[in-house]
Amino acid sequence: MAILPIIETPDPRLRTISTPVEAIDADLQRLIDDMFDTMYDAPGIGLAAIQVGVPKRVLVIDLQEPDQESGEAIRNPTVFINPQILEGSEEHSVYQEGCLSVPDQYAEVERPATVRASWMDRNGVIHEEQLSGLLATCLQHEMDHLEGILFIDHLSRLKRDMLLKKLTKARKDNAKAA
Ligand code: ZN
Repeated sequence: MAILPIIETPDPRLRTISTPVEAIDADLQRLIDDMFDTMYDAPGIGLAAIQVGVPKRVLVIDLQEPDQESGEAIRNPTVFINPQILEGSEEHSVYQEGCLSVPDQYAEVERPATVRASWMDRNGVIHEEQLSGLLATCLQHEMDHLEGILFIDHLSRLKRDMLLKKLTKARKDNAKAA
């Protein structure tokens, strides 16, 4: 188990198209464990393998939604291997999205509200489910990473430029403070 360095924009590796996983072996199991450690440590709710520099079609997601009674975050780690969107709803929803590769920057993105998706879990079992809400959005965001797409690519040029300017300024301020 290890926390891996997360690649940030504009690193060109984030533009890689990831390749399908062919075998679920010990190396892949280790990668999945390390991706969960890295995601929880960041902290984040989703991470694609390419964000730690591995161009494979693997995602980990855990929304860590709070328990209704105690308010404590409940862990529900889910791994998606070779995920596919089979169908997206015509109805769209808007969420404020962020990304560990575009640190501390957020913007509203519109995506299909519900998707029918298939994927393989870490035991090689194939799942097909209808997903909605934040999970549907998060899966679509992470699947974009497999195609080399970032959430900022969904914004208008003006909004994207403003967000990247803020990111550059934040990095400069951090460098000064360090
Ligand atoms: Zn992301």
